[in-house]
Amino acid sequence: MTDRESELAENLARVEERLSSACAAAGRGRDEVTLIVVTKTYPASDVRLLADLGVRHVAENRDQDAAPKAEACADLPLTWHFVGQLQTNKVRSVAGYAHLVQSVDRPKLVTALSAAAAHAGRELGCLVQIALDAESGGRGARGGAAPEQLAELAALVAGSPGLRIDGLMTVAPLAGPYAGREQAAFERLVELSSRLRADHPAATMVSAGMSADLEQAVAAGATHVRVGTAVLGARPRLG
Ligand SMILES: *Cc1c(COP(=O)(O)O)cnc(C)c1O
Repeated sequence: MTDRESELAENLARVEERLSSACAAAGRGRDEVTLIVVTKTYPASDVRLLADLGVRHVAENRDQDAAPKAEACADLPLTWHFVGQLQTNKVRSVAGYAHLVQSVDRPKLVTALSAAAAHAGRELGCLVQIALDAESGGRGARGGAAPEQLAELAALVAGSPGLRIDGLMTVAPLAGPYAGREQAAFERLVELSSRLRADHPAATMVSAGMSADLEQAVAAGATHVRVGTAVLGARPRLG
């Protein structure tokens, strides 16, 4: 093992331990929570090492970084999640490698994703990103739709060729009534998820929790956690 590989293996083991304890504490099976490793700003060589170590889900937030990385790793058995704010002019590229887009937050993006999926001949899983700091009708500081917009967005995704509605995603808000209350924020997301599932029973994914708050996400009922720094180390630059 190289130094980097043992570093990643140790970090992964530590995250795995945190996830197992959090699941046990919540009375949940470890298999109810999927780890997605956020590889943004880190090179394709790290993605390759992670795949060797058993990681099967990776996430990226910028198309410029993600597209060449995904291409360099096309031979690996990985599911690629796109989790960043997404401009419609990047959608065609993203639809070429992403299996899921977790940051669906406006009708225009749904329309563009549907056209791009059709063009690529692929089906894209979509999560509606909920901003718990968004005023009604507005969007969150880090992207995301207000909870009031969920039903309409989900219906639009479900009715769009090439797209599948798979669930919900959120990032714990830094402002508003949920600031500093990660678990309450994630519980709110889970509540919205049960409403979503009433209309779309297959939309079971609840993506919440990052390096700092994965325990709170597991306690609240998240099905997917997105962990970057705890696996790869502190990022060299903002991303
Ligand atoms: C970067 C990022 C993460 C991972 O954050 P860490 O704190 O590094 O674990 C999760 N979700 C999204 C949307 C991100 O952009």
